[in-house]
Order: sequence, then structure tokens, then C-alpha cells
Amino acid sequence: MSSSSSSSSFVLRAELDLWDDVLCYCGELAPILPQWSRRNLGRQYYGCGSYKYGTGGKNCGFFEWATREMDVWCQIVINSLREENADMLREIEALMIVEEKLRKENNGLKDAVQELKRSKRVLMRVVICLFVVVVISWQFWFWLVD
Ligand SMILES: [Zn+2]
Repeated sequence: MSSSSSSSSFVLRAELDLWDDVLCYCGELAPILPQWSRRNLGRQYYGCGSYKYGTGGKNCGFFEWATREMDVWCQIVINSLREENADMLREIEALMIVEEKLRKENNGLKDAVQELKRSKRVLMRVVICLFVVVVISWQFWFWLVD
């Protein structure tokens, strides 16, 4: 059982709070848990009452189905939806990488625009200075000619 499926069953157990009078080998009330295997996806079973998610505590391994086997059509639908969901999660992850790349690229472009604006201001000052120099030289030339 992977950590994500363990976490999912834990959440479901907490949400549903489905407890019945079935005892596990420890003598604890056995909670009803969902199975996450491909063949029995969502089918409920009684598990060990001492098992606590994330603690790595004692677990007598008690297992007894609580619900009947799901029909094949439901299994196919649930499994295909689960695969679709996994595909979409992968797609979201890929899009988040692209978004991050574009954000960095955008920041680079903003910096480039700022640099160009600075260059433009410097260039305008140079043009104005040249204009002033040309006008003064022109006036000076006329003064010399006179
Ligand atoms: Zn037990």
C-alpha cells in the first residue's frame, strides 16, 4: 500500500466514521475502511482497530470484507476515472512547470524593458546636448563670418 492510498483511506475513515461491532484480533472495534486495489477499488473492509495511520504502531492484520464485491462495470468506470484523474494531475504538474518558466521569462523581459527605457533616456540627453552644441557652433560660425 502506497503512502497516498494510506492517507486517502485515513481521510475517508475520519470522514465517514463508519464503525461496527466487529472486533479485530487485538479485541478492538474494527473500523470499516475502503480498499484501494484496482480490482476492489472503493470496496469496504474491516481492518485492525489498533492501526493508526502514520504512527507505525501495532497492527494485527485483521481483514474481513464489509461489502459485497463491486460489479465489473463499476470497477471499469471507477478505474478509468481514477486514471483520468491521474492524467489530469500530471497535466497540472506539467502546466505548473510551464507557468514557472514563463514567469521567469516574463521577469527577464521586464528587466530588458527597464534597461531599454534607461538607454532611451541617456540617448535623449545625448541628442539634446548635440543639438545644443550644433546651435551654439552655428551661432559662433555666424559671429565669425560677421
Ligand atoms: Zn487488531
